[in-house]
Amino acid sequence: MEKTLVITDPDSDRYHTFGYISWWQQEVVRNATVLVIGAGALGNEVLKNLALMGIGNLLIGDFDTIEDANLSRSVLFRQSDRGRRKVDVAAERVKELNPDVHAKAWHGDINYELGLGVFRHVDAIVGCLDNREARLSINRFCWAVGRPWVDGAIQELMGIVRVFWPDKGACYECTLTDADYQAINLRYSCPLLARENLLQGKVPTTPTSASIVAAFQTQEALKLIHGMEVNPGTALMINGLTNDIYNTEYPVKDFCLSHSSLGSIVELPWATACGTTLAELLDEARRQLGDGAVLEFDSELVVAMHCANCGNVEHVFQRMARLYENAAVCPHCGARRDMELTHRIDGSEPFLRRTLAEIDFPPLSIVKARLGKARCALELTGDKERVLAFH
Ligand SMILES: [Zn+2]
Ligand SMILES: [Zn+2]
Repeated sequence: MEKTLVITDPDSDRYHTFGYISWWQQEVVRNATVLVIGAGALGNEVLKNLALMGIGNLLIGDFDTIEDANLSRSVLFRQSDRGRRKVDVAAERVKELNPDVHAKAWHGDINYELGLGVFRHVDAIVGCLDNREARLSINRFCWAVGRPWVDGAIQELMGIVRVFWPDKGACYECTLTDADYQAINLRYSCPLLARENLLQGKVPTTPTSASIVAAFQTQEALKLIHGMEVNPGTALMINGLTNDIYNTEYPVKDFCLSHSSLGSIVELPWATACGTTLAELLDEARRQLGDGAVLEFDSELVVAMHCANCGNVEHVFQRMARLYENAAVCPHCGARRDMELTHRIDGSEPFLRRTLAEIDFPPLSIVKARLGKARCALELTGDKERVLAFH
């Protein structure tokens, strides 16, 4: 589509030069919301670029705090920021860089604590991660709701940039080798995994590699926002030692576990994680699908811990993957406890009056419902205003 050139005054418009770019639409850029996951070396560079371009709304996710070792590769951090959350500092600094930008910090574990609906309601998703587990999570979330995402990876002077788009070429999980799975499984070998270990990916790299890869990632995000062509399922490989840059296409795996879409998603503007009970959501599932419909969870919910030794029972209501290993030990007698688990709600549960938040669902979650072969997915859309409010 031909664009009307709008040439503004360079003295009063910081986006003046963008007006000369034939396809650039500052209005589209201004109204866009981008989710940036990871505020480390890549995240700093991506956020800096997005802010300079005037991307209107940035949702920044990370679980980590700043230490001195980050300062050599993080343009948004200062020495005085030591010990502060990366997301809080990053959100402050992008607003300094460009006051037009609304930035929101989200501190948490991307694998379990961000509602799936968030992925539906943003215009682009950029992964700035240093571990396979988080990439795999984002990949599955994006597949579930049919959204593209931009991945970046750096090691020493090497870099990779990839766009993954459900049903358009290979996805991230299609690219995983047996060795990758082995590395992931090693860390998951304990049923209550030691998440501390999992979250410590320390990758040797340089600020130059981060700038190069993050620049390409930002450009891919910019193309997605403008609805321009990208090449999903291919990798841009950058070798900073030999200065070789080339593209390579991944084969699609036939039985890739990520290839699972939620299908039709029902938006429920009245439903929120804190305000809606399991009983109310089950009623909605039955309105949608008919009597006898059940709610189904993707991961096991630990309802309670039972100690066979001393008879102690503790209600837990947390997803199993979010518990630390010491949760298995009885605080009264030190014996190993048994977990009471569930992943299906059929209406017979004694805890139906709990809200979704009280059984460990984050705001803007999407919960699956099923009756025989018929299924749908229910979104807690009432949380959208709060989770994605930038003003
Ligand atoms: Zn795949
Ligand atoms: Zn006990």
